[in-house]
Amino acid sequence: MTSYADFHRRSIEDRDAFWAEQARLIDWQTPPQTICDYSQPPFARWFVGGRTNLCHNAVDRHLKDRADQPALIWVSTETDQERVYSFRDLHAEVQRMAAALRELGVKKGDRVLIYMPMIAEAAFAMLACTRIGALHSVVFGGFASGSLASRIEDAEPVVVVSADAGSRGGKAIAYKPLLDEAIELSRHKPSSVLLVDRGLVPMNLVAGRDQLWATLRERHLNAQVPCEWVDSTHPSYTLYTSGTTGKPKGVQRDTGGYAVALAASMKHIFCGNPGETYFSTSDIGWVVGHSYIIYGPLIHGMATLMYEGLPTRPDGGIWWRLVEKYKVTVMFSAPTAIRVLKKQDPAHLTRHDLSSLRSLFLAGEPLDEPTAQWISGALKDKPIIDNYWQTETGWPILTICNGVERAPSKFGSPGKAVYGYDIKLLDDQTGQELTAPNQKGVIAIEGPLPPGCMQTVWRDDARFVSTYWSSVPNRMVYSTFDWGIRDEDGYFFILGRTDDVINVAGHRLGTREIEEAIASHPNVAEVAVVGVADQLKGQVAMAFAVLKDASILGDQAALLKLEGEVMKIVDGNLGAVARPARVRFVHVLPKTRSGKVLRRAVQAVCEGRDPGDLTTMEDPAALQQIRDMVTPA
Ligand code: AMP
Repeated sequence: MTSYADFHRRSIEDRDAFWAEQARLIDWQTPPQTICDYSQPPFARWFVGGRTNLCHNAVDRHLKDRADQPALIWVSTETDQERVYSFRDLHAEVQRMAAALRELGVKKGDRVLIYMPMIAEAAFAMLACTRIGALHSVVFGGFASGSLASRIEDAEPVVVVSADAGSRGGKAIAYKPLLDEAIELSRHKPSSVLLVDRGLVPMNLVAGRDQLWATLRERHLNAQVPCEWVDSTHPSYTLYTSGTTGKPKGVQRDTGGYAVALAASMKHIFCGNPGETYFSTSDIGWVVGHSYIIYGPLIHGMATLMYEGLPTRPDGGIWWRLVEKYKVTVMFSAPTAIRVLKKQDPAHLTRHDLSSLRSLFLAGEPLDEPTAQWISGALKDKPIIDNYWQTETGWPILTICNGVERAPSKFGSPGKAVYGYDIKLLDDQTGQELTAPNQKGVIAIEGPLPPGCMQTVWRDDARFVSTYWSSVPNRMVYSTFDWGIRDEDGYFFILGRTDDVINVAGHRLGTREIEEAIASHPNVAEVAVVGVADQLKGQVAMAFAVLKDASILGDQAALLKLEGEVMKIVDGNLGAVARPARVRFVHVLPKTRSGKVLRRAVQAVCEGRDPGDLTTMEDPAALQQIRDMVTPA
């Protein structure tokens, strides 16, 4: 058996041979000629000359051996439905959806925006897009019209696929009005909207634009839409993510590199076997949903369990019941969800037969030790595997690759550098590499990024380069915008973001986006949003606003009303996921003499920590006012 250290070394030092081997894990219509073209750094082109198709690899190629095995298991505890689609069924549904999209004018290279709850049709739509070479752009169903509008404008979709409503805790949440509003707000107008009518809420259809999926599906019941073979470098999708500036970035992914990276990760990291069941509790609106609800498990010939509902309804045992019923072998969730389950009756875990489950993967936010220890004990010491990555990379950067060589985890660490990633820790001031153990630096990846990572920012190569890349002598490095340290054994520890991104319950939010939404309130002159540590959600957003009309500052009732108004604006613009826990009103924001808001000092004070060096602060009273507000009397 290869040692992991050798495996990793080979992936960097003998890169092309390593990845040529991994490329054999997927089907190619034409095999690649060049494994990695890095002639124009930092743009890496993987498996050049190869032609393949993501949908073919996820669906069609399994028809030979497992047509009647489950491919997509859809469970909704919101509507009390459960359906199992075999690979044959999935193949038929995806072709129906592909034919419908074609009828609506979608061609190779066009974008299709998917704004949907966790229903099987969302999976059909994603796979139908990649089947015909169209790019999907999935927008998380929890985002509201403002976020949706900016994504419609940037992606310029020909078609939007949506539904009448999602559902949460048994309560329908209408999607259609939010979508209509977003299209109204956007300068770009999709020519058609394809709607799944779940019968949850009434819908007003716009004549000439809105089409019902049921009608088109009926029309294309026997559709045969062959996969469109595309170049390995053909973009498969864009997915928007937040950064320092208000405008979200469209992370663009290729086809061949992504398929290879996912196939390899299923083998070396997740250790799943074809024919087994994979259960990721994420949402298709996030990168984990793309890689490990839809593409990864299916490419590997596994059934994927797609779940609509809360982890606590009808009770805290629902996920474990599903593990037992569908013999889940690999499960993927987030620390926040585990913290929620920790508050439930522990008997839920002993009541079910969890013998099929081999490991639980957790990602998206730091895994704190109490949570890790609790779940590890509750699952009777099955491996709990933390993994660290980003929307940009599409698959893990740091973890334990048990498929290569079994290795112990260390509490608080997601593990070691994953094969393919040449990780450097950089001094944030000098940009120099820190090589000694246990030094704090910015986690960076020397180019080329491995297969499956972002190709560029959608339609904005310049932004890709300027946002992520810097040069250290003779080479280019990609910044993750995370602080980290590496210990003497090569295990990394993540110490938080270097930018203004916060992580609320595993959801990545830009504080600037929230600030922009709040600043649109007519009485808000200025606002600062910071992420504050929270026991359940990891972090929550806290807003401090300066009013244009400060005369109401002493009037508690008026301030509460205003706080409600501001929260409503955030809900309406970005969605409830971005709503701050509190909006406080202050006379002035703490700033440096040069006028920069001291967000880090505000955050420290909110967390009861020492705010550090404040010599550049203009008015210390500003910070004191915040301290008085947040310190319990
Ligand atoms: P996203 O792009 O939404 O997946 O968010 C990526 C960010 O989430 C990373 O840059 C980290 O800040 C954080 N993150 C993801 N996974 C982990 C993890 N396992 N441990 C600590 N932070 C994580």
